[in-house]
Amino acid sequence: MKSEQLKNHKITDAIQHASPHFDERPNGVDINLLVIHCISLPEGDYGTPYVKDLFMGELDSSAHPDFAPLHGLRVSAHCVIRRDGTLEQYVPFDKRAWHAGQSRYCGRKRCNDFSIGIELEGTDKTAYTDKQYECLVGVTKLLLEHYPTLNRHRIVGHEHIAPGRKTDPGIGFDWSKYLNQL
Ligand SMILES: [Zn+2]
Repeated sequence: MKSEQLKNHKITDAIQHASPHFDERPNGVDINLLVIHCISLPEGDYGTPYVKDLFMGELDSSAHPDFAPLHGLRVSAHCVIRRDGTLEQYVPFDKRAWHAGQSRYCGRKRCNDFSIGIELEGTDKTAYTDKQYECLVGVTKLLLEHYPTLNRHRIVGHEHIAPGRKTDPGIGFDWSKYLNQL
């Protein structure tokens, strides 16, 4: 990430896809949490079109046996970072993406209301690439700069806000490597 900028709640260098899976954040809610996730479809297969299809509401759930439970699922994230560090954005940051599901942060429920969700292409048991860390650090710095209600102590994994239900980004994610670069 070189000269990335944020305009109209979109990152100028990101590949933009307009997901239909979003809505308005509740009135008066500040963005004050960043949630890190991981996803790959099928799990462990990288570079497939299926993550994009899922977030765009276009996934053919018959394309792979693992996709059956995803049928009709309406989910999204603000951004996806591919294995090669390519950044995709699906929902502008001022809108509510549907990434966290049932969740709680410091006693506050429905984390989608007040968070930004970033997906790393991967699985919760394998290491992420250096390019992904590089991109994630760049995006995070940009978000911290742009949204003063966010700070580096308000960054969590999906597993932390939905314990017992979610395990991402998992043991493959090196939190100190990430946080030390912010
Ligand atoms: Zn997740």
